[in-house]
Amino acid sequence: ALNHVKKNGKAKYQLYDPQMSERLKEKTSIELALESSAQNGEFDLYYQPVIDIVSGSICGFEALIRWRHPSMGLISPEKFIPIAEQSSSIVAIGRWVLHRACSDIRSALDAGVQMPPIAINLSGKQFSQINLVDDLMTILAEYQLAPKNLSIEITEGVLMTDPIASKNTLGKLRDLGFSLALDDFGTGYSSLSYLKNFSFDKVKIDQSFVRELLVNSSDAAIVKAIINMGHNLGLRVLAEGVETEAQCVFLRDQLVDEIQGYYFSRPLEREQMRQLLHDNRRL
Ligand code: C2E
Ligand code: CA
Ligand code: CA
Ligand code: CA
Repeated sequence: ALNHVKKNGKAKYQLYDPQMSERLKEKTSIELALESSAQNGEFDLYYQPVIDIVSGSICGFEALIRWRHPSMGLISPEKFIPIAEQSSSIVAIGRWVLHRACSDIRSALDAGVQMPPIAINLSGKQFSQINLVDDLMTILAEYQLAPKNLSIEITEGVLMTDPIASKNTLGKLRDLGFSLALDDFGTGYSSLSYLKNFSFDKVKIDQSFVRELLVNSSDAAIVKAIINMGHNLGLRVLAEGVETEAQCVFLRDQLVDEIQGYYFSRPLEREQMRQLLHDNRRL
């Protein structure tokens, strides 16, 4: 069907795609709902353990946002983060995540639980905010925490929009003591050797390469190459999306440093995280 639209006074004909209009409707309702979500207490933060493959113990957690909308139900961050990124709501969401993570770390520390660093995902808009570094330091101070309590994750895409500014920001964060991870590696267009010029400590191999590791020989080759090159560049290498023991064995044989995935644990509520840390300490 053809849809008649008028733009700048000129009549135009556009192909009408019912699926497209469904997506648009969904996007618009998500955009609208996002505006009140933070105030309404609809967000929650989950924590997925990261395992040091040599010691077998927990060396960190990744904070992952969850959104429970009263009528739309559980909405995946894969769906709403990109939409939030297009409006300015991502900045408020990012701030909410930081406050919640810091508050959870603070209360665990106060309860005598030793907390490994919590990894925070920073979106492009958040990362390129001019006052990002000051904001981070102010929030940390509010909870009497230090940069070593957090680890920052950004993706290649975020880096490449403005490599010079990114390099600058990453350098500052590193000097302050944050650890820095390059997320979803392999899905963008950059090479690891180029990324050596940035101050990363860790590279996270995207789960799309881990998924078919044992059945797809090119995925296996890519994973091996990322591990070797990462190590040659002095980076720690983490594999995400590890779901089976066989994947885990393969990755261990290839000397990956850290693993994260359902094989060890799904993302947990903060009480479960605390419990796990408590039990882990006694092992
Ligand atoms: P990500 O940063 O790559 O996070 C890893 C995703 O993989 C998470 O999905 C996690 O639940 C999922 N995952 C972990 N282990 C496994 C596994 O073994 N198998 C499979 N199939 N999946 C696994 P989640 O929580 O749905 O988050 C999706 C994406 O949304 C994240 O991808 C990240 O890009 C974004 N996101 C989540 N929380 C935040 C946040 O607080 N801020 C920002 N800016 N983005 C966030
Ligand atoms: Ca991440
Ligand atoms: Ca990732
Ligand atoms: Ca991802």
